[in-house]
Amino acid sequence: MSPRPLDVITVNQCIGCGAIETPQPCLGGCHEHRLDLVPADEHAAALAAVDALETLLAERRALLAEVARSTLADGEWAALRTRARAVLHAPRVPEPALEVTTWRCDCGHIEAPQPCIGVCVRPARAMVPAEDHRAALARATALAAEAERLAPALRQLAWTTPRPAHREATARALRTAASAQQEAA
Ligand SMILES: [Zn+2]
Ligand SMILES: [Zn+2]
Repeated sequence: MSPRPLDVITVNQCIGCGAIETPQPCLGGCHEHRLDLVPADEHAAALAAVDALETLLAERRALLAEVARSTLADGEWAALRTRARAVLHAPRVPEPALEVTTWRCDCGHIEAPQPCIGVCVRPARAMVPAEDHRAALARATALAAEAERLAPALRQLAWTTPRPAHREATARALRTAASAQQEAA
């Protein structure tokens, strides 16, 4: 995966009332546009989940391709089973970050005024557009669904030990399932 640059916007957010403002004042005569923001760290976690799920999906696909080609003889079965157990742990898709609505004007000034509750303390806070965050979560959700679609054959491989008498039938069923999931991918 190539690293995606984060479109980070640094704002000052009041820890009391939640008001948001960028340091430079508005130059005046601007048009304002709505801009929903989320904390950059929560968005970074969503991007990390996307990367982890992309890796997992690639591993599951590669393993199923091997299962489909394999004879599933004793030694092979044991090795593939160990790998199947490892790739059955899927990273969680993070919860959506809480979005805050701000207004950005043509000059770049951003604000989200609030009725102040008294003392305003406004530490800098790294935010990113909520739009980017929503897109990352949608991608993570789609990847997780695709990875889950490949899971049944891997679970069968991971958690079954065929009795000698059923060995060939089990191997055949598993190869068929692996091939079917490969083709649908
Ligand atoms: Zn302005
Ligand atoms: Zn305040």
